[in-house]
Amino acid sequence: MDWADSPQQAAFRAQVRALIDSNLPALYWRRAAGGRPRGLGAAWHEDLRSADPEANAAARDWAAALHAGGFSAPAWPPEYGGAGLSTLEQFIFNQEMAVAQAPAVGGGGYSLAGAALIAHGTEAQRRRLLPQTLSGEIHWYQGFSEPGAGSDLASLQCRAVRDGDEYVIDGQKLWGRSRGADWCFGLFRTDPLAPKHRGISFIVLDMRTPGITSRPIITLTGEAEVDETFFEGVRVPADQVIGEEHRGWHVAMYVLDIERSNVGNAVGLRRYIEALLAHVRTERGRVHAGGGRLTRQRHAIAQHYIDSEILFNVSYRIASLQGANLPNTSESSASKILGSELTQRLSNTATKVYGLYANVWDAESEHAPQHGLFSYEYLHSVLLTIYGGTNEIQRNVIATRGLGLPRG
Ligand SMILES: Cc1cc2nc3c(=O)[nH]c(=O)nc-3n(C[C@H](O)[C@H](O)[C@H](O)COP(=O)(O)OP(=O)(O)OC[C@H]3O[C@@H](n4cnc5c(N)ncnc54)[C@H](O)[C@@H]3O)c2cc1C
Repeated sequence: MDWADSPQQAAFRAQVRALIDSNLPALYWRRAAGGRPRGLGAAWHEDLRSADPEANAAARDWAAALHAGGFSAPAWPPEYGGAGLSTLEQFIFNQEMAVAQAPAVGGGGYSLAGAALIAHGTEAQRRRLLPQTLSGEIHWYQGFSEPGAGSDLASLQCRAVRDGDEYVIDGQKLWGRSRGADWCFGLFRTDPLAPKHRGISFIVLDMRTPGITSRPIITLTGEAEVDETFFEGVRVPADQVIGEEHRGWHVAMYVLDIERSNVGNAVGLRRYIEALLAHVRTERGRVHAGGGRLTRQRHAIAQHYIDSEILFNVSYRIASLQGANLPNTSESSASKILGSELTQRLSNTATKVYGLYANVWDAESEHAPQHGLFSYEYLHSVLLTIYGGTNEIQRNVIATRGLGLPRG
């Protein structure tokens, strides 16, 4: 198998790299060079709204540079302001962005809500919402899960009852970051009498509509990354259903498949492994590791490197399947499992390498190895095997859709 770029792909990669090298603001290079990663919600949008003038300017300048280069929305068709890149070009683009740790403009909402609108929205809905999504004016919240409806998402109970030209929404959503979001794309039960997958609609709504409240949930790292969100008598115009009424499940499955095919993962993990290697090669790293402990972790680190190579190969396979318009659901599930569990194993090994210094939580402390990178990731990576569909569910997908095993 030859993984090398074709001449055209190499030229495209050079173009993306040049754009990043000459335009990525200093703030993002600094963040990439060291320090603790920031939580789930801490992407480009947070910088765009930050009170810190440098973060704010960095977000704007980076968005403008991507826009000028024609890369604001790599996957979207050009008529909606996208770059219309082929699947393999998107793969190369995402890989180069991940190598530089350059933030994607628009974040997850842009790719998920944008994809739903482009594939299933009406022309009026696209014209209304896509430009503001692209410019960052709309920050999206994904309102799918509920208490008792995560893995079994189709059991969701949050009701949207038709009342003339409007729906009235009542109920609760759980997880997702609704605080600070401008719009929600969510799943709501519009026909309680239909079989559970068939009575759900995919609705978008303005988060400033009266009747919506959010309460933060503190996760293991102490950050308020996600929320519980309550809807009480929230009135939404009926023309804000995406796709057919009661057929929202179909739109949601389309969106979730996109969420799971994360090709930047392999690059991020390799970077983590290289950072750990660079650390243990330093005098300070050897002191932290106390000699013997490092010897004991050598095989573990070598194994993580091998596993990251497997993840790279799976990512290439997904890209080539997508490029050939072939199904890739079970491969995407495999990639999610490999990436999330490898991050957990690597963080576990790294905290052993840190020894007792792994307990230093203050990233700025002189005693924190790598600014506590893996102390943080050890806790934060717990989330990775849960959100976007738990790893048990991904294994079910591989068993049934990939291997043709009967449903249990
Ligand atoms: C940090 C974070 C961010 C999130 N962000 C969002 C978001 O933006 N929007 C959103 O809508 N949701 C979001 N979620 C919700 C996430 O998708 C759900 O938490 C996840 O799907 C699991 O559902 P649950 O929490 O209801 O757990 P449950 O479904 O109750 O699962 C509990 C346990 O049982 C196992 N299990 C359940 N069913 C099966 C089965 N059939 N076979 C084998 N094992 C099974 C699960 O794997 C898990 O270990 C987020 C969650 C987290 C933790």
